[in-house]
Amino acid sequence: WELGRVYIDSAATGFKGNVHVIIPPGQGAVGERTACMRCFYPVQPADDAGAAACTLPGHARTREHCILKGEEMFIRERGAVEDYTAEDLVEIAELARRTSVESPYLDEQTFTAPEVENVVKNKLPAIITVNAVVASILSHEVLKALHRIYERDIGPLLDPPYLEYSARYGIFTPMGIEPDEGCPVCGTGAGVGTLTVTTPTVGGLLEALSGMGIAADGALVTRALDGTVVSRPGGGGDGTPLADLGVSDAERIRVTYREDGERRSVVLEVAVEEDR
Ligand SMILES: [Zn+2]
Repeated sequence: WELGRVYIDSAATGFKGNVHVIIPPGQGAVGERTACMRCFYPVQPADDAGAAACTLPGHARTREHCILKGEEMFIRERGAVEDYTAEDLVEIAELARRTSVESPYLDEQTFTAPEVENVVKNKLPAIITVNAVVASILSHEVLKALHRIYERDIGPLLDPPYLEYSARYGIFTPMGIEPDEGCPVCGTGAGVGTLTVTTPTVGGLLEALSGMGIAADGALVTRALDGTVVSRPGGGGDGTPLADLGVSDAERIRVTYREDGERRSVVLEVAVEEDR
């Protein structure tokens, strides 16, 4: 987006695939500007490895939890290894079985080495024919864009810009994505302001926002980087240190609030200047 280039994204997993055309401003020959990638993913995905770890102190609730706990036990015993051998996978499968026995939520489960490998190596199932379908569509979009750049028109690019394909049902679903006015990449959020906070707590941050004329009590405040919630609407300000929520000096936050009945969103860089 920042390079001003047309970007055509595509992905497939299992029986689903998609093709997504992204046109930044200044590429009028190719087509009208679209929403940017960040508009499409306003909340950044959580770190899955960290999320899975939260099941470790408790009991496994799914087969996947068992495998992840088994892997954790394996790493505690042996230390992290670069790549699992076939014997390692069998050992993790046995540790996963024991985890299932200890869990009140599951009956005893058994695991195969390939299943363990799929989870611990984070593999996604791919069906090559689905890849073939979306790759063909992707290729057509690339060809159309290239022709248009060189002033030949063989047809317009995908509009709406996102097309989802379900091989299971044989259905193509076009999806429109409107640019997000406050997007930190392509919207008003890209012009980042500064928020000076003198008391580095959630309460102090809301106070600073109020000082900027933002109705802070009704605002949703998140870390711009990954969407971690700092304060919910009506949450009020408390003494939770901002550092506990991953908001340190120079961190960007995103504030979504209402003004004159309209939803607004702004990205601010936090400057902590503690009063002493
Ligand atoms: Zn955007």
